[in-house]
Amino acid sequence: MVDLGIPQIPLSLAPRRVSRQLRLGHDDRAVLVGGGAPVSVQSMTTTVTADVNATLQQIAELTASGCQIVRVAVPSADDAEALPEIARKSQIPVIADIHFQPRYVFAAIDAGCAAVRVNPGNIKEFDDKVGEIAKAAADAQVPIRIGVNAGSLDKRLLAKHGSATPDALVESALWECSLFEEHGFRDIKISVKHHDPVVMIAAYRKLAAACDYPLHLGVTEAGPAFQGTVKSAVAFGALLAEGIGDTIRVSLSAPPAEEAKVGIAILESLALRERRLEIVSCPSCGRAQVDVYKLADEVAAGLDGLEVPLRVAVMGCVVNGPGEAREADLGVASGNGKGQIFVKGKVVATVPESKIVETLIEEAMRLAEEAVEQGLTGKPEVITA
Ligand code: SF4
Repeated sequence: MVDLGIPQIPLSLAPRRVSRQLRLGHDDRAVLVGGGAPVSVQSMTTTVTADVNATLQQIAELTASGCQIVRVAVPSADDAEALPEIARKSQIPVIADIHFQPRYVFAAIDAGCAAVRVNPGNIKEFDDKVGEIAKAAADAQVPIRIGVNAGSLDKRLLAKHGSATPDALVESALWECSLFEEHGFRDIKISVKHHDPVVMIAAYRKLAAACDYPLHLGVTEAGPAFQGTVKSAVAFGALLAEGIGDTIRVSLSAPPAEEAKVGIAILESLALRERRLEIVSCPSCGRAQVDVYKLADEVAAGLDGLEVPLRVAVMGCVVNGPGEAREADLGVASGNGKGQIFVKGKVVATVPESKIVETLIEEAMRLAEEAVEQGLTGKPEVITA
């Protein structure tokens, strides 16, 4: 057995909150959400949904990036008409995102979408339509996400609370749930999104304590890639560490595949998903005897696409280098323009700085092949930097 050095779920993470389980989809593409299912990563297309080819192309890119559920916007009749083909051809479950027009909810259910997201704050006469929607969704076994958003909170609640407070967001969500519950419908997941992680965390904590519906985590309008990644990682990290959250969507002003990658990285960081390539590299300092930034970038690029979990240490000097390199599956501790290469805690070679990257990649490939022989995961593949 190859010991890949991947940790078990740390004891400091709280147990997952107990939630109802939903099934998104009816065939082998289905994804379970809640009820102990692994936390899933989702994103949303940015194409015009009516442009079926462009939308399916983006869904294929998202699927390749590891995204497990995709949401498409349905603002027009043309978009609604495109749903059957998109739902049929997508490799992952498709959720229709409906604002304003209840009739598109029925179109999405008829189209074979895996779920429908409704925004109770802006669906016209939504409360009057809940009975019909609940019946159609129950008949087709299509879950509904009640997606409350700070920017489109129900005006009645905005007036009552003065702003989109955690209480206002939660009250809106639970009110809409109660309308569905009156019709016996409970295949619901909920989101209460806010752009401020502090408000968002408080809202989800309250919601988690008040119901057993699975929760879709999101910091809405989180910002450009850097800011949005930080906000999402902080907010999701706080909640997931408390066991709260069943599916996540990182919202970035960046291509959707980037959202999926960040979501996956957040789950890997919390050991809620098997870690793949993990580079343990030092920040460098005045003691560094090699160019650590360049080395770390080249090793990361050279091992991009590796399908096995691997921890690789890239360290700049002998202070912490040997210790970290020894603890990793593979590592280099640098000094005097040379690198000591460690594999599974043992020094296997000392090479000049110019050979460090290629030696690490060779050793990584060897370890990956061993792991594949052990049946641990798919075939190793390296993209040359
Ligand atoms: S490993 Fe060495 S070079 Fe890197 S940060 Fe630590 S002391 Fe500095």
